[in-house]
Amino acid sequence: MTTQGWNLENSYSSLPEVFYTKTEPTPVQIPELVLYNETVAKELGIEEHMDVSVFAGNKIPDGAEPIAQAYAGHQFGHLTMLGDGRAVLLGEQITPAGKRFDIQLKGSGRTPYSRGGDGRATLGPMLREYIISEAMHGLGIPTNRSLAVVMTGETVTRETDLPGAIVTRVASSHLRIGTFEYAAGLQDKEALQDLADYAIDRHYPELAGTEQPYVDLFEKVIEKQASLIAQWQLVGFIHGVMNTDNMTISGETIDYGPCAFMDKYDPKTVFSSIDVQGRYAYKNQPPIGAWNLARFAEALLPLFHEDQEKAVEMAQEAHAKYDSFYQSYWLSGMRLKLGMVSQEAQDQPLIDDLLEIMEKHEADYTNTFRALTLGRPDQTAMYGTAAFAKWYKQWQSRLERQDASEAKVREVMKKTNPAIIPRNHRVEEALTAAVTNDDFSVVKELLTVLADPYAYSEEQEAYAELPEPSDQPYRTF
Ligand code: AMP
Ligand code: MG
Ligand code: MG
Repeated sequence: MTTQGWNLENSYSSLPEVFYTKTEPTPVQIPELVLYNETVAKELGIEEHMDVSVFAGNKIPDGAEPIAQAYAGHQFGHLTMLGDGRAVLLGEQITPAGKRFDIQLKGSGRTPYSRGGDGRATLGPMLREYIISEAMHGLGIPTNRSLAVVMTGETVTRETDLPGAIVTRVASSHLRIGTFEYAAGLQDKEALQDLADYAIDRHYPELAGTEQPYVDLFEKVIEKQASLIAQWQLVGFIHGVMNTDNMTISGETIDYGPCAFMDKYDPKTVFSSIDVQGRYAYKNQPPIGAWNLARFAEALLPLFHEDQEKAVEMAQEAHAKYDSFYQSYWLSGMRLKLGMVSQEAQDQPLIDDLLEIMEKHEADYTNTFRALTLGRPDQTAMYGTAAFAKWYKQWQSRLERQDASEAKVREVMKKTNPAIIPRNHRVEEALTAAVTNDDFSVVKELLTVLADPYAYSEEQEAYAELPEPSDQPYRTF
């Protein structure tokens, strides 16, 4: 049996031309495939058509009409014109199951939106993006996927000369809040409406023809983003660069730059070296989500109502729902992490108490929930303190009040508390082996254990270990 191979459409090109520029990837010297995701390839229907030259940008597959997308975005609070400066959308693959996915090369050369940049990417960050996005998928969190990483055989100059690489990303779409900000800036209501209709058609077709389709679109994105950010919080994921150009309309996580997972529980945690103010710190992610959605509303205002005062009222009314969506997703997620399958009014303070004790004792976020899941409170950093003993007792009696066996509680907890996350030191170790020693086996092993973080398998145990204590906080770029 042969698989279908490339089956590309280019629906984005049906939008007004201001939204994109036809741009081909720039060919590279010596492409070498270093990572390839067979699972994703299979889902796309291309597994028997693996061709390194496509992932290198050296060959345009049949049916592709490559473009770079235009968008704007609030970067650290300031509106900027952006666009794909080092990425090219080859087209949209229609899978054998009939799903549509953007196929995008990142690091594939300059585009009209590159400004001063070279359009290229380096191996370390592209492997990092691949690892973290696949880990997020393993965790069950909406995300773009990674299909391949190719080394280009060319050198990319940053602080030093580094090996160049291209990652192929697969996403439900790359429509961003920033795409709508860009459309709003055109002062062309028709173009804005075309974009909104496109987004509805692609992601929320059930909204086409409702009484208020654009307000409904806004509310859908509010709910999706609230749900997504709640899931980030629940696993301790810090995105690091929640600019509006990195927030999708689909509700998928995209743009894995300076992101990382929190180790010790500290709501102020920031990993990105450029986020000096802590704007995108762990605890700020939910309110930043609300801030970003307010920028989305501003862009959509002309479509809400002829009367702009009325439009603002409608936007505010919808926007007010974000907090309750977020709170309810977060609370139901936290209940499951603690094995609570019923609801009690005192659940929230019980959860808050635990987090407070964890913060005070600098307990590792993932491993605390892992230890509770395994019925090993003695393996937590708070064990032996009076506060934790008291909390633990309260928690146990809370569990006794619900109609669920111990086995059931454990099962629920195992499904919601990952045994492992991509630990920063493990990710660094894997990247160093690849970049410095040309050894990709460490990355591949890491990807294997991260594929099912809820397995609680023996081989995962070593990956749950914490690094040697260090005086230097972990920093990403
Ligand atoms: P990001 O921080 O990844 O969201 O990127 C912000 C903007 O900078 C996007 O428009 C990117 O396309 C652009 N950009 C980042 N790196 C480069 C580069 N090496 N060459 C050209 N554009 C870039
Ligand atoms: Mg971006
Ligand atoms: Mg980026």
